[in-house]
Amino acid sequence: MSAQILDGIVFSAEIKEDVKRRVAAMKEQGVIPGLAVILVGDDPASEIYVRNKGKGCEETGMLSRTIRMNAAVTQEELEAEIDRLNRDPAIHGILVQLPLPGHLDEAAALAKILPEKDVDGFHLINAGHLMTGTEGVTPCTPKGALYMIRSTGEDLSGKEAVVIGRSNIVGKPMAMLLLQQNCTVTLCHSRTKNLAEHTRRADILIAAIGKAGFVTADMVKEGAIVIDVGINRVDGKVCGDVDFEKVKEKAGWITPVPGGVGKMTIAMLLSNTADAAERTLKRE
Ligand code: NAD
Repeated sequence: MSAQILDGIVFSAEIKEDVKRRVAAMKEQGVIPGLAVILVGDDPASEIYVRNKGKGCEETGMLSRTIRMNAAVTQEELEAEIDRLNRDPAIHGILVQLPLPGHLDEAAALAKILPEKDVDGFHLINAGHLMTGTEGVTPCTPKGALYMIRSTGEDLSGKEAVVIGRSNIVGKPMAMLLLQQNCTVTLCHSRTKNLAEHTRRADILIAAIGKAGFVTADMVKEGAIVIDVGINRVDGKVCGDVDFEKVKEKAGWITPVPGGVGKMTIAMLLSNTADAAERTLKRE
């Protein structure tokens, strides 16, 4: 039987509708949520992401500001810009588009963002909140992936969840979120031995690797929830880490690429920005 498709276009529209309502309510109280994106250099993929973020702000009624900086910008200049945005009351969310050019220190730049304005959830304080299960900002991609997993209506408690990929922005926070849902979590990576033995046990399988078609049908348990985070380009076409056509015949649920997790990432970014603005309103 063919898997049910977890449609990122439908779910992200749902989230954006909710954000739109919350933005309208804040506007009535005189606050327009604002998201600032710092784009260093002219990486074409980053340009596309930044444009989509701006479009998302427009759709939901938020203020969007893009700060473009020359690829040769110094660390001091970049951090001074972050400081300015930290102090700007019109800006509730700050995002530094990654990757930064090689001469810049990404970790130091991210650490400069005020944790409450860190809508990407990459600040060490927010990573610590996720680790300890306390209130903080959750990274957008794993948050979006979890939304899709929960949409299946399955009881997640006690389920075997296997995450492939241990990056700080996807794999590790994904594992933490699944742990919070009481899954039994296995985190696999490039040094994992006998990977397929792990993945075949997974009721929930997350692929966040960056290798086209890496997860094949023989690696997947019948009826599993398969979440494909990968974004790869093959012959000019975008595809995920999962061999979608074959795996969809075996899985219970599956996300497509494109039109899957990627759509959720931007929706969650808007939602995190709305959360940040609501927190400011509450404090005032
Ligand atoms: P990364 O390169 O930081 O991490 C890749 C991970 O894959 C590593 O932890 C590595 O150990 C693991 N890996 C590599 N080869 C492996 C192998 N043979 N077996 C098992 N594990 C292996 O990448 P990332 O930033 O986590 O991104 C992963 C993918 O997700 C990329 O394709 C990226 O473009 C995509 N991505 C998508 C979104 C989205 O919005 N959908 C957001 C972020 C990243």
